[in-house]
Amino acid sequence: MPSSDLSAPAPTVQVGDVALRGVTKSFGAMTAVRDLDLDVRSGEFLSMLGPSGSGKTTVLRIIAGFEDATAGEIRIGGEDVTRTPPHLRQVNTVFQDYALFPHMTIAENVAYGLAVRGRSRADRTAAVTEAIAQVRLGHLADRLPHQLSGGQRQRIALARALILRPRVLLLDEPLGALDKQLREEMQIELKRIQREVGITFVFVTHDQEEALTLSDRVAVFNEGRIEQIGTAREVYEYPQTEFVARFLGLSNIIPAALAERLTGRAQVVSVRPERVRLLDADATVPAGDISVPGTVAEVVYTGPTTRVLIDAEDGLRLISETQNTHHPAADVLVQRGDRVRVAWTADHAAALPETTA
Ligand code: ATP
Repeated sequence: MPSSDLSAPAPTVQVGDVALRGVTKSFGAMTAVRDLDLDVRSGEFLSMLGPSGSGKTTVLRIIAGFEDATAGEIRIGGEDVTRTPPHLRQVNTVFQDYALFPHMTIAENVAYGLAVRGRSRADRTAAVTEAIAQVRLGHLADRLPHQLSGGQRQRIALARALILRPRVLLLDEPLGALDKQLREEMQIELKRIQREVGITFVFVTHDQEEALTLSDRVAVFNEGRIEQIGTAREVYEYPQTEFVARFLGLSNIIPAALAERLTGRAQVVSVRPERVRLLDADATVPAGDISVPGTVAEVVYTGPTTRVLIDAEDGLRLISETQNTHHPAADVLVQRGDRVRVAWTADHAAALPETTA
């Protein structure tokens, strides 16, 4: 891509395992999902990311068949399943609360789906051993669920769903109940397992870091619609709307009027704080860079980074974030009240084509 190109790369379109067309879901007067189209590719790890109430879980439940769409069509593996009951769809769901049977051992829990499907005991034993080994809990097969940690229970829930070899695995905030460290370990596990089994994963989360870390593509939801869908890099580096720019990490949104004064283009742009540099107020700015004067309002030490809030012209507050790579005892470079110049390279600003304010 040319370095001065502010537009996002063209997304590649490919139809795959799950296809939703014009899906709408209303609960009485409340519309939870609005005329939604979505294609999930075969073998893909797709995350549905968005704030609470944006419709992610409803879409997952519609794919699973737990919820009927008010309008629209659902295809799984090319087959129209809009009116097909959940147990006849080639999908399986992993829930946040694990939904394990408390009185059954781990091995019995994992075997349950195969038993219901009438598979022989010998078949079941071999498959269960393999599935439990896949989530690295072979040594715990004879325990009951309450004798496991949250992360172990979640892995068993995963093994139980995967053993049925669904075409698509639906995961509804499966790591939501885990503490931060365990959650990060499980994210790596989940990615490894998905790569090994090659099954399509559709994953619901409201945690942006989790979505960016795990997914081949992220669908960002807002008010029952997908605002943007793309790879982690596409949605983070080239947000198409202000909502996406603000929801995924921190963003400096430069209004069109100021952008026009700075660059000659009346286009709302977003600049990530890690791309914003702080210079002395009278520093010479390299040719081609954009800069505005401002006053330091706050300096926030976050551990790995330092975040500086700057009041610039027109009441605009900008954020600059830098890695703390200098010596740990080194003095803070700026203080509240300092006059500074805030600068960024022109091609580090992403145009928000769908935002006009
Ligand atoms: P969260 O992250 O909180 O789970 P979400 O993005 O998954 O949120 P949904 O659970 O899909 O959101 O809900 C979307 C909207 O639909 C919400 O406003 C919710 O209150 C509403 N909703 C969901 N299920 C029902 C229901 N059975 N009856 C009425 N309204 C519902």
